Amino acid sequence: MRVIRAVAAMQRLADRLRSGGRLGFVPTMGHLHEGHLSLVRICRKHSDFVVVSIFVNPTQFGPDEDLRQYPRDFGRDRGLLDREGTDVIFYPSAEAMYPAGFATYVRVEELTQGLCGRFRPVHFQGVTTVVAKLFNIVRPDLAVFGQKDAQQAFVIRRMARDLDFGTKIIIAPTIREPDGLAMSSRNCYLTRAQRMQAPVLYRSLKLGRRLVQEGEQNPATVKRRMRQVIKKESGARMQYIEIVDTEELKPVKRIKGRVLIALAAFLGRTRLIDNIIVRLRNNRQERQGRQERKTTDKHR
Ligand code: AMP
Repeated sequence: MRVIRAVAAMQRLADRLRSGGRLGFVPTMGHLHEGHLSLVRICRKHSDFVVVSIFVNPTQFGPDEDLRQYPRDFGRDRGLLDREGTDVIFYPSAEAMYPAGFATYVRVEELTQGLCGRFRPVHFQGVTTVVAKLFNIVRPDLAVFGQKDAQQAFVIRRMARDLDFGTKIIIAPTIREPDGLAMSSRNCYLTRAQRMQAPVLYRSLKLGRRLVQEGEQNPATVKRRMRQVIKKESGARMQYIEIVDTEELKPVKRIKGRVLIALAAFLGRTRLIDNIIVRLRNNRQERQGRQERKTTDKHR
């Protein structure tokens, strides 16, 4: 496994690897956990060479966010990636990625307006800019992103399509702790008491999914029930719960087809996000769910 720090050296090495097979890429901010490693494994399956980047990207953090305290442990990350059979770690400095005079940004419109974008105004522009740069440096055949950050993955997929990167975007499932909490580098900020409460977010998402699968089509009802669970079972402060379509990420008026239920909440000062995609297979199934729900409601 090689560790490359300079942009030009990474470009040269990527060009060489690409001439020998399919080049897969997993961008990360490090402090790796099983969620990241699952992306590396998926990448490995679909490619001949795997490049993983570790870069805590300053442009995607707002002025009051956690750039300075974001956890970093390159030595540990390096060991984990070596064990996964990673071929190259790209580990640039902030100065290498954003040299003096840097002035160009990539922005995906619309998709970045709602959900997290509403509360983190500079975030997605930072993400798309750094991923565009990383794609230009590595020029991967495919890149793997996690559904954990669903809006990010959808935004990057749109950027890759709109700007003709020619990189296939694979979205990988969210890896969770045994109690359901989505793995995140930020979970280490949680106190013991907050860590005990945190799985309520996934429990509320599962409740949302169940309600939808049972035929509930009113997003306001689903969101209200989810909020109740979170309020009753934790001290979490909700930032948002939204039910959106999976193309434009716009709130749906009536739930049908395939929807993304996404949320963000603060436990103390730690902001956690999670989501679930619900697919309703067909209208008959929806009607059947509604019918079954009516019957069970009668018997309550
Ligand atoms: P980050 O280091 O947090 O920027 O994440 C790097 C990549 O790992 C992104 O594509 C994330 O969506 C993905 N990721 C983070 N947490 C998880 C998780 N629990 N399961 C799957 N993928 C994840």
